[in-house]
Amino acid sequence: MEPPSALHLECPNCGRAPHRVLRGRLSQGEELVLEGVFRCLRCGHTRRDTHREWAPVQVPLVVSDGDTSRKVEVDLFPGEEVRVGDSLEAKGRLVRITAIEVGERRVQAAPVETITTLWSQRADRVTVKFSLNRGRRTIPYELRAPSDEEFQIGDQVRLGRERAVIRRINTHRGTLRDGVVPARDIVRVYCQAVRRPRSHR
Ligand SMILES: [Zn+2]
Repeated sequence: MEPPSALHLECPNCGRAPHRVLRGRLSQGEELVLEGVFRCLRCGHTRRDTHREWAPVQVPLVVSDGDTSRKVEVDLFPGEEVRVGDSLEAKGRLVRITAIEVGERRVQAAPVETITTLWSQRADRVTVKFSLNRGRRTIPYELRAPSDEEFQIGDQVRLGRERAVIRRINTHRGTLRDGVVPARDIVRVYCQAVRRPRSHR
């Protein structure tokens, strides 16, 4: 087992900070023990030490949600492995890992302590595709919705400035002309524009 190259540790000089492991020997009994020489990356303080309890590492995580993305940090434990496709909770939201960056490289899996940045997508929300039929024209729309939100044939939805009635829903198992489908199972929703009255009187 290889010792990690970096860890978040308590620095006697400046508090909790990332440390580089200059030399390390790892042994695993009931707990992981790391003996080594550590250098604080914030203040440069270098010392020999033994660590039995590892503090979680804060790993930068980019969370994409539709067209927008933001960067947060997620606490993970050194020694654990993260894989593309894994789900994890970040700031109370479920995300799915889409890419793992180690230095300049993209990998399919990596131990937590080697990861530079994790890329993810919100897994609790999905993009639902719509086709809106208005006369002879068909207009595509996309909506973000909670993955468990239900869409029912006959329901009205708002697409841009249009109101529309759901006529049928394509799922991976086939086409529904009746019933209810959660957003996560939807391939495309077919709608008919609702004709608006010409006058408000
Ligand atoms: Zn320090």
